[in-house]
Amino acid sequence: MQTSILTLLLLLLSTQSSATSASITDRFIQCLHNRADPSFPITGEVYTPGNSSFPTVLQNYIRNLRFNETTTPKPFLIITAEHVSHIQAAVVCGKQNRLLLKTRSGGHDYEGLSYLTNTNQPFFIVDMFNLRSINVDIEQETAWVQAGATLGEVYYRIAEKSNKHGFPAGVCPTVGVGGHFSGGGYGNLMRKYGLSVDNIVDAQIIDVNGKLLDRKSMGEDLFWAITGGGGVSFGRGTKPQHHRGTMGTSC
Ligand SMILES: Cc1cc2nc3c(=O)[nH]c(=O)nc-3n(C[C@H](O)[C@H](O)[C@H](O)COP(=O)(O)OP(=O)(O)OC[C@H]3O[C@@H](n4cnc5c(N)ncnc54)[C@H](O)[C@@H]3O)c2cc1C
Repeated sequence: MQTSILTLLLLLLSTQSSATSASITDRFIQCLHNRADPSFPITGEVYTPGNSSFPTVLQNYIRNLRFNETTTPKPFLIITAEHVSHIQAAVVCGKQNRLLLKTRSGGHDYEGLSYLTNTNQPFFIVDMFNLRSINVDIEQETAWVQAGATLGEVYYRIAEKSNKHGFPAGVCPTVGVGGHFSGGGYGNLMRKYGLSVDNIVDAQIIDVNGKLLDRKSMGEDLFWAITGGGGVSFGRGTKPQHHRGTMGTSC
C-alpha cells in the first residue's frame, strides 16, 4: 500500500536569544494571536510555566524518564497546535523574536531533542498531539496522516478499512508519525516493502517563512530531504540511500 503522509515538518530556527523575560513571552504570545488565522484563533493552546496544566502537558510526551527531572531544561512556552495556522504563526513569531523552536510528535526521541535543549537558549515547543487525523482511502490505496498520530493509530485505522492492507513502519505503537516517518522508519514489513519513507508519496511542510508547501511546491530535492533525513536535523547530516531508519529498541 502506498501512503501519502501529511507530516508537518517545520524548518526550525536556531538563533541566539538571551532572555526569557515576561516581556518576550508576552510579545511572543501577542504575535501568535496576531498571526493566527482569525477563523482559528489561538486561545487555550498556549501554556506557560505559570499555567497549572504546564507540567502535565510537558510530561505527557516525555517518553524517556531520564529527561523528566526537575533539572531538565524546560521550555518557556508550549503551543498545542490545533490547526495548521497555529504552527505557521509559531514559526513566523519564533523567527521574528529569535527564539528556538522544538517540534514534538510522539516524544520518542532518544535524546529528548523534541522537548529539551542542551544549550542555554530559551526555547518553546510546538506539540503536535492534537493534530493526529488519519484518512484512509482504500480504493486509492493511500492515506493522509497528520504528524501527531502514533504508529498504532495508523495501523488501527488501516485495519478498520481493510484486512489486506498495511503500512511498513516501526514496531512500537506509541512512536509518533512526525519523528518516525521523517527519519526513515523500519519494521516487520521492511524486507518486502522497504522503509516507511519508501512508501510516502506526498507530504506537507511549513517552511521558515510560515508557508505551507506540498511535494509539488516544495520540489523534489526538499521532498527527498524530509523523507529520511530526520525531522529536525535534515540538511545537517548525510542521508544514506539504504537502511535509513533510526535505531529501534523494545517498546
Ligand atoms: C521505544 C522505541 C521504539 C522504537 N522502535 C522503532 C522501530 O521499530 N523502527 C524504527 O525505525 N524506529 C524506532 N524507534 C525510533 C523512532 O522512530 C525515532 O526515535 C523517532 O524519531 C520518534 O519519533 P517521535 O515523533 O515519537 O519522536 P519526537 O521525540 O516527537 O521527535 C523525534 C525527532 O523528530 C522531530 N520531529 C518530530 N515531529 C516532527 C514534525 N512534525 N516536524 C519536524 N520534526 C519533527 C523532533 O523535533 C525530534 O528531533 C523507536 C524508538 C523508541 C523510543
